Amino acid sequence: MSQKNKIKKRKSVAFPMMGNVYIPVKTILKKLGAKVVLPPENNKTTLDLGVKNSIEGICFPYKLNLGNYIQALNLGADTLLMFQAPGTCRFGTYTITASHVLEKMGYKFEMVVFDMYKEQMKEVIKKFSYVAQTKNPLKIINAFRLGFKKFYALDKIEIKLFKTRPRELNRGDSEKIYKRARKLIDKAENSRELKKVMKKVMAEFDSVEIDREKDVPIVYLTGEFFVLLDPFTNMDIEKTLGELGIEVQRQIMLSDWLEHVLTPHLFYKKESHRERSTKYAAEFMKRAIGGECIESIGDAVFAARHNADGLIHLSPFTCNPEIVTQNILPKVSEHEDIPVMSLILDEFTGRAGYITRIEAFADLIKRKKAKKKMLIKA
Ligand code: SF4
Repeated sequence: MSQKNKIKKRKSVAFPMMGNVYIPVKTILKKLGAKVVLPPENNKTTLDLGVKNSIEGICFPYKLNLGNYIQALNLGADTLLMFQAPGTCRFGTYTITASHVLEKMGYKFEMVVFDMYKEQMKEVIKKFSYVAQTKNPLKIINAFRLGFKKFYALDKIEIKLFKTRPRELNRGDSEKIYKRARKLIDKAENSRELKKVMKKVMAEFDSVEIDREKDVPIVYLTGEFFVLLDPFTNMDIEKTLGELGIEVQRQIMLSDWLEHVLTPHLFYKKESHRERSTKYAAEFMKRAIGGECIESIGDAVFAARHNADGLIHLSPFTCNPEIVTQNILPKVSEHEDIPVMSLILDEFTGRAGYITRIEAFADLIKRKKAKKKMLIKA
């Protein structure tokens, strides 16, 4: 075989979009030497493509993932990446179902699956290295180190945004910094650059003019991972709440997942979200049943006992684990005295009705908080 024929064709790699996750994942792949084909961030076209080629009752996140794949394949991708956790819920069937649909549509591709029941971190490194066609340990360490730092950086600016936005005096100031920060984090080529970026953007956040005396209620957000982390899917609920003068808190963050799912237990000393949730949910649920069900119940109890004024639970239509959560949450609400609202999302969710429900909930918790304050004073 000639030397020319021995050179492997570089794979054009794509993966599903979910909020900010593409920034660190793209970084890792590029640093490993892979050619990344990035589909557009989730939008109406992505959703339409996914809906058109899916059966109606399948999970909402699957429809968006499928739309991402179609857009990426049309842009020239030939290798698709996806996580899979078989056995717990329909998440275990995403890759098989999507592969069948895409093959039937005539696309030629290789689906590379990270089986999260296998060795997790080892499985991720193995599959990333495979698609990037490298076994260079130094390259692998450096790529993952920078990618992981970006996961943490993105969470840090998000948390800062949650705190600053409801208190800002000029609407939109913190949002502008956040959007700029995302771009800068995306562009950072190494840890030194990233550190500089973070120093600069955190200082910018701190310089936003805010009302320090404002009594800001806290709403804890919980629910299914994808709808929580993808602003297109949840119709930017965090922005709506922030602009209504509400501070958002949530435990389900990108880095949280990174630590609890990917990091071997040996290196992970903190109490995991799952462990905390299992403890707090114990009165209402004895064991995890898949998805983020036990996390949602645990978060509701945790929020009530840690000064949150309300809890919003987000779930995709027909999501089995979150249907169970929805049926338990009224009991938690009564028992823990915390207002709870469940919102279900799919392609038919109307924006106007959705926002009206959030506004009504915000009014309710503001009145409840004011009443509580008056009773304490009296
Ligand atoms: S958690 Fe819910 S939405 Fe996500 S894959 Fe499972 S059933 Fe579908």
